[in-house]
Amino acid sequence: MNFASDNWAGVSPKLAAALTEAAAGLAPAYGGDDLTARATTALRDLFETDLEVFFVATGTAANALSLAATSCPGGIGFCHADAHIANDEGGAPAFLGRGLTLITMPGANGKITPDALSASLSHYPQDPGQRGTPRVVSLSQVTEAGTVYTPEEIAEIGYVAHGRRMAVHMDGARFANAVAHLDVRPAKITWEAGVDILSLGLTKTGAWCCEAIVVFDEAKAAHVAAHRKQAGHLFSKSRFVAAQMLAMLDDGHWLELAGAANAAAARLAAGIEASQNARLAWPCQSNEVFAHMQTETLKRLQEAGATLYPWTARGTTVDEVPKEGETRVRMIANFATTDADVDAFLSALG
Ligand SMILES: *Cc1c(COP(=O)(O)O)cnc(C)c1O
Repeated sequence: MNFASDNWAGVSPKLAAALTEAAAGLAPAYGGDDLTARATTALRDLFETDLEVFFVATGTAANALSLAATSCPGGIGFCHADAHIANDEGGAPAFLGRGLTLITMPGANGKITPDALSASLSHYPQDPGQRGTPRVVSLSQVTEAGTVYTPEEIAEIGYVAHGRRMAVHMDGARFANAVAHLDVRPAKITWEAGVDILSLGLTKTGAWCCEAIVVFDEAKAAHVAAHRKQAGHLFSKSRFVAAQMLAMLDDGHWLELAGAANAAAARLAAGIEASQNARLAWPCQSNEVFAHMQTETLKRLQEAGATLYPWTARGTTVDEVPKEGETRVRMIANFATTDADVDAFLSALG
């Protein structure tokens, strides 16, 4: 009954085998190896476009360095009030982004809207003056509410951002879950919808360490290689991250893993909807489930051995807030979550 986070999960055996296979012998360092070249080609094939790939160690680094690459002196980034970059990265976007300012906005279902972005941008005239320069908008796909932006929603935000000559960044810590949910070509929710730079996270999908910055438009996101090296994220043994990436992309394995996690979450969400003891906070569209329940119920579940977290959120609308006596909780399924795990939880919930 562990629904703490998908980064509590282990690693897909297919990746373990790929790493063992890559372990023997020598290869050029710092990304000059064959596996890194092959992973780059695999990502170009997957996204059906020319692109650049930069492996980094963590999602935080991918985000902060992506934002740094889009910024300038006095640069400003825009995101949802609950965005990981604004709440869970210890100031890394400002530190690595040389003082990048983040402006947050609320929004239902964890999403920002083109109107909210336009309204926010209206405080920043074209002439930077004393306020700084809008440079980037960042979307989390999957969102911090476990929901998924549609291709149209992304494109509308992209249109507003590009109208101000800003870049569009996507925090794809759970990109695989979003693609599995939407069942779309990855191109459709990235560069075709105006995304210029993507933090592609496959660690939570089922890797040890497989995070990459994917640059679709170098005019909007420059000098990533230099930013990465300065931040200490250039892997000398890049081939072992590449081996994980290749195993993930081989034969759609990443979507198989994400699809399994999504299915477990859907089973959990259906059970919660049927229960009198909890109600969904947001629609379940990924491997994350958020629910409101009496604080007593949460205690009872924890005593029965369930691992889940109480969850705060700031950027919510009125009807998304827990009622008196209720707590919002977050539950995350991973690729290895079984039906038995879910059913045991639901039977404890009652
Ligand atoms: C987990 C997560 C990240 C990356 O976190 P790291 O711990 O730095 O790897 C980024 N964005 C979101 C939305 C996440 O959930």
